[in-house]
Amino acid sequence: MSITQNLNEIKQNIPKEVTLVAVSKTKPVSDIHEAYNAGHRIFGENRIQEMVDKYEQLPKDIAWHMIGHLQSNKVKYMAHFVDLIHGVDKFSTLKEINKQAKKHNRTIRCLLQAKIAKEDSKFGLSFDDIKEILSSEKLKNLENISIVGLMGMATFTDDSKILEQEFSSLQKLYLDLKSDYNLEVLSMGMSGDYFIAIQNGSNMIRVGSSIFGSRNYN
Ligand SMILES: *Cc1c(COP(=O)(O)O)cnc(C)c1O
Repeated sequence: MSITQNLNEIKQNIPKEVTLVAVSKTKPVSDIHEAYNAGHRIFGENRIQEMVDKYEQLPKDIAWHMIGHLQSNKVKYMAHFVDLIHGVDKFSTLKEINKQAKKHNRTIRCLLQAKIAKEDSKFGLSFDDIKEILSSEKLKNLENISIVGLMGMATFTDDSKILEQEFSSLQKLYLDLKSDYNLEVLSMGMSGDYFIAIQNGSNMIRVGSSIFGSRNYN
């Protein structure tokens, strides 16, 4: 199946309210062009330098999402164009994003990454840390960022019980905080688990290999 066919099939099978982020990490610009020509405009990358290189080569109406773990010292390279940063898991990172956004007179939209997986390898804030950040006074001073939602990555498993537990725990937190803090995005679900994520309230899925094929890291 082609990239276009994959995209169309996924879009036909998800509710209209769910935003699809096409995760193009490690894939060539030509693949993104194909998806772009099929009408897709939202792409996700997990390395800042790679995203910057692709941004420079591709049409400027693409919305670029940074989905990877952030190194604060590299935020400056994407601050002029990034549309949404999914993986914020430290207050100090928010401060850096704010500082760089201010230089460009922008407000950068961010998601707080929650740790929902049992695996140690996954990054993320505890639910208590998320509540603390959202309610903190010092957040109000960061006028060039806007926290618009939460993001989570489930355990790498095909046990649907575990996936459901992890996604529904984050949905519950999201629903608890949504109206107090004006949250609108719940980013959960990848190629292997986006159906279960949507069943548990996700309204933004990050799908790579089901669109572009499996990745080859080397
Ligand atoms: C790579 C990645 C994805 C996409 O993974 P697939 O399994 O290829 O769909 C989603 N979210 C994050 C944070 C990723 O790093």
